[in-house]
Amino acid sequence: TTPKDGLSAYWMPYTANRNFKASPRMLVSAEGMYYRDDAGNAILDGTAGLWCVPLGHAQPKIVSAVQKSVATLDYAPSFQLGHPSAFELAERLKKYTGGRFSNVFYTGSGSEAVDTALKIALAYHRARGNATRTRLIGRERGYHGVGFGGMSVGGIGGNRKTFNSALLQGVDHLPHTHNLEKNAFTKGEPEYGTHLADELERLVALHDASNIAAVIVEPVAGSTGVLIPPKGYLKRLRELCTKHGILLIFDEVITGFGRLGTPFASDYFDVEPDIFTTAKGLTNGVVPMGAVFVKPEIHDAFMSGPDGIELFHGYTYSGHPLACAAGLASLDIFEQEGILEQAQSVAGYFQEAAHALRGLPHVIDIRTIGLIAGIELESRPGKVGARAYEAFTRAFDDGALIRVTGDIIALSPPLIINKQQIDELFGKLSAVLKNLA
Ligand code: PMP
Repeated sequence: TTPKDGLSAYWMPYTANRNFKASPRMLVSAEGMYYRDDAGNAILDGTAGLWCVPLGHAQPKIVSAVQKSVATLDYAPSFQLGHPSAFELAERLKKYTGGRFSNVFYTGSGSEAVDTALKIALAYHRARGNATRTRLIGRERGYHGVGFGGMSVGGIGGNRKTFNSALLQGVDHLPHTHNLEKNAFTKGEPEYGTHLADELERLVALHDASNIAAVIVEPVAGSTGVLIPPKGYLKRLRELCTKHGILLIFDEVITGFGRLGTPFASDYFDVEPDIFTTAKGLTNGVVPMGAVFVKPEIHDAFMSGPDGIELFHGYTYSGHPLACAAGLASLDIFEQEGILEQAQSVAGYFQEAAHALRGLPHVIDIRTIGLIAGIELESRPGKVGARAYEAFTRAFDDGALIRVTGDIIALSPPLIINKQQIDELFGKLSAVLKNLA
């Protein structure tokens, strides 16, 4: 496939890796575990699209629910009006959180969910008379989308640099939890680094807790290379946030909806945030949608508005009927087809297969948790990302879709993957790695 004239503007937003423009691979259809490219080749989906297709592509029940929805109610405003499936989905989602998160705010994407969560945190403190609690804390190498809120708390310097003067003020970043011990080759949570959560104490000493609104972290950082928190780290963060009256926000845009074999990462780590965001798997990637989950007292404070002024918040596409239809059908499948059990049953096999790549040329670390694997390659001198990008193109041409971020290969297949397909994925990847210069 060669780039077509006029496509560069379209491809540009995707070119975190500049080479991408030179060889765009085209996907033209998808079913189950496989994409098809424009030459008709089957491509095994090792990434669930962009972490967002847990139930596999063209899932028949989702397709028919969305078709039915578009033919019945194509759009409904969510201001002053409602429609039944938005409420039904909210109720079902509440149950999916074990009933602890009473309210859900719908958004159109993960980035909007993050910005909404940050607004809710600030409004909550203000409504409780703590108007000085405005500082936000993210984490280095955190990724929270491309909105101004998400960029501000995100920990990717390159994403922030151009916009620094316009980003939120009063934002600090905790250290990331990676590379404390190189080449750890960990399954599940590494044993080191719980003390890194104590960095929060340093920020509290510096700014005073009465000025800090919230800490936001991804339970497992995905987009920046599969960074798994050390054992006890999230629990410690929870303890410190509670101690200082700081809200803890989990960004579960990637980890939500079964990626770790549990409904949410908070279930996996047994740590409850005050607010959490989701998107991606919520609608199986079919219709864009994000959602922010909050506890009742936080919801009520946000909705009460500041200083008696009614608050305005919401998006044109909040609770879109098609997205709600896709979300409801997805939850049906999760519940009726035992998807979490299926994910749990193959996670060990998947992780073993990933760790079997150890010893192949250039592989310097492998990290796995649930159905996520990060395989870190040594960078070519002065060319960060080039080696992994080559692995990506070769794997694609050999019929396997992998994702690369810098020189880290991230794998996150649909949760319906079976052992044979796991063998196929890692067989192709290992052949690629064996021949990679
Ligand atoms: N938060 C996290 C943790 C993400 O991984 C992403 C997307 N990869 C986002 C937020 C942004 O989501 P979206 O691209 O839907 O805006």
